[in-house]
Amino acid sequence: MQLRYRYRLYPDESQRQAMAQAFGNARVVYNDAVRARQDAHAAGEKFPSGTVLQKWLITDAKHTDERGQDVELGLDLGLSAFAVDQHGRVINNPRFLRRAERKLKWAQRAVSRTQRGSNNRTKARRRLARQHAKVSDTRQDWLHKATTRLVRENQTIAVEDLAVSGLARTWLAKSVHDAGWGQFRRLLGEKCARYGRELVVIDRWWPTSQTCSDCGRIDGPESLGVRTWSCPCGAVHDRDINAARNILAAGRAERLNACGGDVRPHTGAVAAEAGSSGTPQGDAAPHPA
Ligand SMILES: [Zn+2]
Repeated sequence: MQLRYRYRLYPDESQRQAMAQAFGNARVVYNDAVRARQDAHAAGEKFPSGTVLQKWLITDAKHTDERGQDVELGLDLGLSAFAVDQHGRVINNPRFLRRAERKLKWAQRAVSRTQRGSNNRTKARRRLARQHAKVSDTRQDWLHKATTRLVRENQTIAVEDLAVSGLARTWLAKSVHDAGWGQFRRLLGEKCARYGRELVVIDRWWPTSQTCSDCGRIDGPESLGVRTWSCPCGAVHDRDINAARNILAAGRAERLNACGGDVRPHTGAVAAEAGSSGTPQGDAAPHPA
């Protein structure tokens, strides 16, 4: 007996991008394979098997510039999207705490309804603790997957030092904590160190959102609400993509400094910090005098 299923997918923006990328890759590799077999036939050589093609077109091709992967990444961390890179690829913010908020409130209320010192209170408190643990486990799992993928796909990753602790004390505190920036940074650092990648952290005073990534003029809007703006040089910028480009450029400059000796004091180099178990609050780069 045969069964047939039909599915309809409704991909969101980042899923659509991921699929377009996967289909694009498949098309390129397929065309390369057709070309390789035609060439072999024309040259009177042996017909290349699937295994041979796989080695030529996937394993070996990754080491060439033409088919190699993007090895540098500039990441702008935000609250609406978790992160945006220099190509405008978005990592969505899953907002685990916000999603679980109703369940947590309900569990909290259940605790309040019970009598102090009673068995019921102990049970209700345990239930509340389990809910909280679930939220943090889910967040942890997501952060691990996201950082592993980024580190696997890139040789150098530049991020901005957002002084998480500073933002975390404002009205945005819950969102910042929920996004897990501190953990994200820490995991990136650890995994970069483990896999021989480089994490470059840009000092926070770099006005990445206000600087035009085309001409370098510092003339952009300061308000977080402005998503797109145009520079007098004619460039039109998306706030996040522009910031990611500047972060990448700043990361390159920082690495050049690191290679040619210590030009500037207090660079945000993370190599020494990567292995430490410092808290996210302690990670903030020192503000230069
Ligand atoms: Zn400009």
